[in-house]
Amino acid sequence: MTNDRSDLRLTFAQGEPLTLSAHRLRAACKCAHCTRARIDNTFPATFEFLSITDVVPQGHFGINIAFSDGHARGIYPWSYLRAIAAA
Ligand SMILES: [Zn+2]
Repeated sequence: MTNDRSDLRLTFAQGEPLTLSAHRLRAACKCAHCTRARIDNTFPATFEFLSITDVVPQGHFGINIAFSDGHARGIYPWSYLRAIAAA
């Protein structure tokens, strides 16, 4: 995480490190709540002034990210984080 917690920096054993912004990660959340909100068209178009409040490792699978808007349900597999960065 950067000092202001607005970005997440990931370093892998192989390949280039990734930097992903909090709002980009939040917008890419695939949890059931966010998926439902997208279907209902209530998912926010933007997430400004958002920061990362916590990052919890989920074994070899990926990480769980908590955001300053109180949302902490998203699990981000490593492959998905790479896909977000490459998009
Ligand atoms: Zn979510």
